[in-house]
Amino acid sequence: MTDLARRFRRLIEAHGPMPVARFMGESNALYYSARDPLGATGDFVTAPDISQMFGEMIGLWCADLWHRAGHPQNVAYVELGPGRGTLAIDALRAMNRQGLSPQVHFVEGSPALREIQRSRVPGATFHDDLADLPGDVPMLLVANEFLDALPVRQLVRVEKGWRERMVGLVDDRLAFVAGDQPMEEAVPADLADQPPGTVIETSPAAATVMGEVAARLAAQGGAALFIDYGHLAGRTGSTLQAVKGHAKVDALDHPGEADLTAHVDFATLATIAHTHGVAAQSGTQGQFLAALGIETRARALAAAAPARAKETDAALRRLTAPGAMGELFKVLALTGGGWPHGAGLPAHGAVAQGSEKPD
Ligand code: SAH
Repeated sequence: MTDLARRFRRLIEAHGPMPVARFMGESNALYYSARDPLGATGDFVTAPDISQMFGEMIGLWCADLWHRAGHPQNVAYVELGPGRGTLAIDALRAMNRQGLSPQVHFVEGSPALREIQRSRVPGATFHDDLADLPGDVPMLLVANEFLDALPVRQLVRVEKGWRERMVGLVDDRLAFVAGDQPMEEAVPADLADQPPGTVIETSPAAATVMGEVAARLAAQGGAALFIDYGHLAGRTGSTLQAVKGHAKVDALDHPGEADLTAHVDFATLATIAHTHGVAAQSGTQGQFLAALGIETRARALAAAAPARAKETDAALRRLTAPGAMGELFKVLALTGGGWPHGAGLPAHGAVAQGSEKPD
């Protein structure tokens, strides 16, 4: 049993069940604070570590927008949760080649990952949250697999109505239980009428980030790109999952020692952006990277290093194929403050949502 699991048990024994959001928030804060969870020797691999092509395409997306916005002199590249800094390195190299050399700002909560980022991207300025990012320059903001790590709140339908989904003790084990307070007020009207057992997930933390980013884009100008596991249309069900050592494990069994994630509800986030007068575009990662020319880049890399051509092709397929990351991962792009729309994605909601398969 982990130290945090012991602490959670004591807390639950003393005060009763705790909300899923608290369990997830405290578990991930501890999980990320002390380790580098990324890569083959860690718990999970992310797109920037699969291939340099991923960051390069994002850098080109930023540079294209910047050119079409009239290439303003002073721009900030902002990354939320930059991991090992790999995406930033590849994206900044691609931007530099297009004449764009932005200031670099990282929002990173983990002291362990900050150290790695500081050594790999020496000029970066660090921030605990978005509040103290510069307020007087346009931003090009990128967040890959950041929102999925933020805590979700869950509501569960029981016979008597809606309750918050909590973590309690059942037969001396951490288990999901329903809270006792009625929560009907928190349920969107179109979802209220569901059978018992239905779970609804929301992410107040992701909504807060989105509101803050959209308000800044409207005021400062610029663009934001969010890439994550998730869905483009609203849905019900729990998507909370835990990964440890590249394998799925029980979500409640290893608090603080497994990565907890939930799918991102991009439909709600796009609605928040719209309320700030910011434009939203969305699609799948596969669509997005293909539209930006990743296949051409893969051919060029394979021609330049024939010994690694097979590896390059495998990385291309892993990033774009529907059965790999191509469809499960979605991209939400926001632009505001007079900046043009980004390349490679239709307006959010323009694609038939009924065709999206549950994943
Ligand atoms: N973007 C990177 C890393 C993804 S892992 C990549 O694609 O490889 C999630 C990242 O978000 C880590 O850097 C983690 O430390 C950071 N993070 C998670 N929750 C955070 C929070 N609440 N505040 C700031 N950073 C957070």
